[in-house]
Amino acid sequence: MPSEYDFLVVGAGFAGLVAAEQLVQKLDARVLVVEARNHIGGNAHDAYDRAGVLIHQYGPHYFRTNSDRVRDYLSQFTHWHPIDYKVQSFTGGRYWSFPINLKTFEQLIGKAATTEEFERWLESKRIPIESPANSEEVILSQVGPELYRLFFEGYTRKQWQCSPRDLDPSVCGRIPIRTNRDDRYLRESFQALPKDGYHRLFARLLESIQHRCEVVLNTDYRELLPQVRFRHMIYTGPVDAYFDFADGHLPYRSLRFEPESFEPEMLQERLSIAGKPGFWQPEMQVNYPGNEVEFTRIVELKHATGQRCPNTTIVREYPEAFGLGKEPYYPIPNEASASIYRKYKARVEAEKHVSFIGRLATYRYYNMDQVVGMALTEAGKLVKRYRNA
Ligand code: FAD
Ligand code: UDP
Repeated sequence: MPSEYDFLVVGAGFAGLVAAEQLVQKLDARVLVVEARNHIGGNAHDAYDRAGVLIHQYGPHYFRTNSDRVRDYLSQFTHWHPIDYKVQSFTGGRYWSFPINLKTFEQLIGKAATTEEFERWLESKRIPIESPANSEEVILSQVGPELYRLFFEGYTRKQWQCSPRDLDPSVCGRIPIRTNRDDRYLRESFQALPKDGYHRLFARLLESIQHRCEVVLNTDYRELLPQVRFRHMIYTGPVDAYFDFADGHLPYRSLRFEPESFEPEMLQERLSIAGKPGFWQPEMQVNYPGNEVEFTRIVELKHATGQRCPNTTIVREYPEAFGLGKEPYYPIPNEASASIYRKYKARVEAEKHVSFIGRLATYRYYNMDQVVGMALTEAGKLVKRYRNA
């Protein structure tokens, strides 16, 4: 006899867990969450490594949002550790202030400058392109070729294994460029990490609905299908996999993470670079646009979490092709993938009892807050639909 649920949620990332929480709270629904990995949280998962340092297992996850609705919703499950996310770029043998701002310009010309001088300089360098059609044009039209080559071209080629010309303008366009001294990496008004980490946030969310929600880990949802009955599925996995790749494989970029931990005595020689004891590099993230190394960035999360511990861990991030045994991290936003996705979108619309939400199921380069917003909205629609059904 199969077990009966109102909703089957595939994937225990932000999309799946937020939807599950809303369906239990608002409909008193019985929900089963099934997750292929051995943990909840999806790509936002964090954990303490063997050196005792809190790291983000799938790359740095800097929470930020302009949405009060999303912030207030998540604040039910976490307090926040406010943080201005700071990044530098390392190229030509030196550290640069990044994203591009007045301090970067001063480093370039080797003397103090004003916003007006930087703006005049940019005016003389910019390539006039009215509506940038790709990631190269979006940067050339803002800062011209010199800064584009220094900071964007090499990084983007490494990350995406293609020319910035072949990527949607939104990819590089999300990096701010400023003519004042504001060197925060992100633009959003609220920038903070969950005070006790993402895992605690997700665990608290699940605690609040444990009376109506079961979670099964280490399981592909297809294995469970013969054993469960449900009225509606929330699917947050890759959309092409759901349809057995009927319209072809959607392209992704993958990553390899290489952590390295240091005890305090090993950090002595880094003191002049890091600027304070207990750290390896000057900021939480340093980008490496040059070809002399294969990784794109080194993340030292301890700068951002504010964790007090003697050791530190850095993680080098190597872009990789997506294939067997690799995780589909980044949808590749370009014309070719958009054309494949349109075919899947038509199939999605015909599935009346499945909601496709999240980064993989909608094949969009969404940040966490956008995914939370999407899950709240979709759950709201389902609540209306099933309230009296
Ligand atoms: P995921 O977190 O990917 O969750 C989907 C889950 O579904 C996964 O756990 C997967 O195992 C599971 N699943 C898939 N298929 C199946 C199946 N067949 N059966 C069972 N389970 C299945 N966002 C930010 O806001 N700030 C950042 O700084 C940031 N940095 C990022 C850095 C990297 C390297 C990456 C890759 C992403 C980053 N993001 C960041 C984006 C963020 O990871 C996503 O917005 C968020 O994880 C999306 O949540 P999701 O639930 O849609 O997907
Ligand atoms: N980028 C770049 N140089 C940098 C940082 C970013 O060229 O120093 C480009 C690159 O194409 C990257 C995109 O801008 O994929 C978005 O960068 P972000 O740091 O937001 O990447 P994510 O955190 O999503 O990997």
